[in-house]
Amino acid sequence: MSIVSANPTPADERALLASLPTGLLIDGVWRPASDGGTFDVIDPSTGDALLTIASATPADGAAALDAAVGAQRPWARTAPRERAEILRRAFDAVTARSDDFALLMTLEMGKPLAESRGEVAYGAEFLRWFSEETARIAGRFAMAPDGNSRLLVMKRPVGPSLFITPWNFPLAMATRKIAPAIAAGCTMVLKPAALTPLTALLFAQVLSEAGLPDGVLNVIQTTRAGAVTGPLIADSRLRKLSFTGSTEVGRRLIADAAQQVLRVSMELGGNAPLLVFDDADLDKAVDGAMLAKLRNGGEACTAANRILVQRGVAGEFSRRLTERMAAHTIARGTDPASKIGPLVDESTRQKVHELVTSAVAEGATLALGGRVVQGAGYFYEPTVLTDVPAGARILSQEIFGPVAPIVTFDTEEEAVRLANDTEFGLVAYAFTRDLNRGLRLAEELEVGMFGLNTGIVSNPAAPFGGVKQSGTGREGGIEGIEEYLETRYVGIADPYRE
Ligand code: NAD
Repeated sequence: MSIVSANPTPADERALLASLPTGLLIDGVWRPASDGGTFDVIDPSTGDALLTIASATPADGAAALDAAVGAQRPWARTAPRERAEILRRAFDAVTARSDDFALLMTLEMGKPLAESRGEVAYGAEFLRWFSEETARIAGRFAMAPDGNSRLLVMKRPVGPSLFITPWNFPLAMATRKIAPAIAAGCTMVLKPAALTPLTALLFAQVLSEAGLPDGVLNVIQTTRAGAVTGPLIADSRLRKLSFTGSTEVGRRLIADAAQQVLRVSMELGGNAPLLVFDDADLDKAVDGAMLAKLRNGGEACTAANRILVQRGVAGEFSRRLTERMAAHTIARGTDPASKIGPLVDESTRQKVHELVTSAVAEGATLALGGRVVQGAGYFYEPTVLTDVPAGARILSQEIFGPVAPIVTFDTEEEAVRLANDTEFGLVAYAFTRDLNRGLRLAEELEVGMFGLNTGIVSNPAAPFGGVKQSGTGREGGIEGIEEYLETRYVGIADPYRE
């Protein structure tokens, strides 16, 4: 059961924060940093500190990897059903504590409670999905084509894995990696983002209570990401690096991982185009754009970063989107009226504002917003830019804020060319009533995921991931577990030949 109520009070907030572990989780023990170092986690809606927690040192990182390596062999030998049931109990526990997880995410990350509840359901679902997949890990057996030997193909856990996660989805980005790793029988070191580590601490506690053995998951939040994770990536006992974050950091980590030829999964940045054609159902297109743009306050890798609208409906679509975005109430995420919370920190807000300012200087029209909200916290007004010229800087970078740049196009061919004109390839969305066009787009757009007449594609049962510089590897779906499995082939002599 949750500690807090569905409509949390300030007393609930204090009680929840007071109940959290504040140390590092290493080999089943919550402990302080080896040098006693700590850092504050900030509430982005006020700028005030929420809680002071331990900040791992390189020595703590090494201890966490030692624990993961030590736990690996016995963990790999556990029965699949045993691992499945740990995941299932964790799913039940996270679901039962939905109000706690939701409040915690709202406090440290800023989004409205309703959205945090959505993330709890989404994040927990990876636990249920992979609990169901655990018992289905299988290999194959065959007679060699010439009949002279037998081929046994088995699946083995990859081994100790390092997970580095971003701040924008504090629960789901962790469960999307941890659940399949548990299912496959891998041990882990998790380094959550320093901006939002509290959700990971609560989740690690819940997993221990669900029966996860000591050392299988170790958590080392730190303000010194590179100094702590670098030596782990260089350690020959580490077998896998799974990273979710920016393309810039991902590129560097791939280079580091290359020294050991480490297996990597990279869930990196996006620059999603959302295409609206003249024949679209405009109500659905506006609904979809609202979801794709404002979910998580625009702080999502899947956020519609470029809204491309065919000339015939561009005026009407822009008018309706502006009207809907203008109606969004900006408030602290705990306020029941809040539809949009603060951005995560001041530098994110400055970057968003700078992109808006430069778009206007490059010729875009400011139809809505465009201002920093004065007062405490890092709030930014929902913003619509129309007639954004192709080539504007805002179209080539991840905005990561509630800003909708609208570009007008004339033909399908032009739309595809504009949509693909980016180094990113995570997701695209399109709204059209023409099924053939929808299928053409599914083939022509250079992306890992495509939403047809929908503004949301994330689903634990589906393979999430990108192409081009949006990364490599897939999370979720039946594909997600493969990231944590090695294929081992055993050649067996002909049993009839003595
Ligand atoms: P970020 O790259 O700044 O940080 C991500 C993580 O990497 C954090 O834990 C951070 O502490 C750590 N990190 C930073 N520098 C490091 C280094 N030198 N060595 C090791 N670790 C380091 O990204 P962010 O700002 O936390 O998250 C936003 C980014 O994440 C956006 O680009 C977004 O698109 C991307 N993202 C992608 C997906 C996806 O599934 N493709 C999902 C969510 C977010």
